[in-house]
Amino acid sequence: TIYSASSVYSLSNFYSELMKGVGASGRVFELLHLKPAIDPKRGERLNVNGDIQFDHIEFRYPTRPKHAVFKDLNLYVQEGDHICLVGPSGCGKSTVAQLLLRYYFPNRGTIIANDHELDEVSLAFYRNQVGIVQQEPMLFSGTLRENIVYGRRDASKEEVRKVCDLAYCSDFIKGFSEGLDTVIGSKGAQLSGGQKQRVALARTLLLASNVSPEVADRFKLDGNSDVFDDQGNILLGPSILILDEATSALDAHSEEAIRNTLNLRQEAGLTTISIAHRLSTIEMSNKIVVFNAHGEIVEQGEFDTLISDPNSEFNKLLKKTSTGDNVEEI
Ligand code: ADP
Ligand code: MG
Repeated sequence: TIYSASSVYSLSNFYSELMKGVGASGRVFELLHLKPAIDPKRGERLNVNGDIQFDHIEFRYPTRPKHAVFKDLNLYVQEGDHICLVGPSGCGKSTVAQLLLRYYFPNRGTIIANDHELDEVSLAFYRNQVGIVQQEPMLFSGTLRENIVYGRRDASKEEVRKVCDLAYCSDFIKGFSEGLDTVIGSKGAQLSGGQKQRVALARTLLLASNVSPEVADRFKLDGNSDVFDDQGNILLGPSILILDEATSALDAHSEEAIRNTLNLRQEAGLTTISIAHRLSTIEMSNKIVVFNAHGEIVEQGEFDTLISDPNSEFNKLLKKTSTGDNVEEI
């Protein structure tokens, strides 16, 4: 699916919505200062498929210029990979996502997508192909529907219904007398953390993905009609999905929604980057990347290989946790 111009939201809209969503926190001002001196619509309209390379990246947050989060990060994500980033709290996992979403720009080195430096790619076009679900999703005060169609204002009712089903939102939304027109936020209904996450997942699933006709055919043969909208577009989320689990405090519905999404994406060969702490999510990845506290990659490999090696960095990380079944922030 190729997106219509109307579905590409401008960077300035993004910032103003962000302001509404999180209020006058320091973070927003920081982002505003960072507003890049480039026109988000300028540059190449590149379709990304998840072939992404972090090449010798050095990065410092502008507010902490003396602290290099990454000194020389090299990371390769191949199309169709589901890679999982693990490591101690503060090692830079979420920062990888921030850089990939272009909320921040590296101090040195380049990020390359499909053989193109991201600097040359239209930010607006690119952003619509990369989706993120965070622990504290950015919802803004407005209706549930507005929050879900954000980024795809052209979405049909049918599409919205389907993504709500896929993200396990439908039931709790039906519980509100106003349904999708329920206003949320400080002036409206308060959502639990898990409900917010599922709304964010529904929003992310609406972001178009450019799956091949073969993939679309396969889903039809499997009779998995839930993943199609009324125009036959496939609802598997964006070309690159980033899941920042950030905590083990996921409710059962959210976990199931995420597992379903991951399964479908894996079948369709779509790229996912998850920052996960629970073994049940880590297990689903085809490649684990282990960071140390200094933002350096100390190990990469498949789940089975790393877990069966008693001396692996991955196992050391697991042992540092109390329960042994997640690599919770330590
Ligand atoms: P993780 O997700 O692995 O827990 P982060 O990527 O959030 O780690 O953080 C990496 C480092 O960058 C930490 O030292 C953290 O304190 C710092 N950091 C994160 N976000 C910001 C920010 N917005 N401004 C300044 N420093 C930050
Ligand atoms: Mg984090």
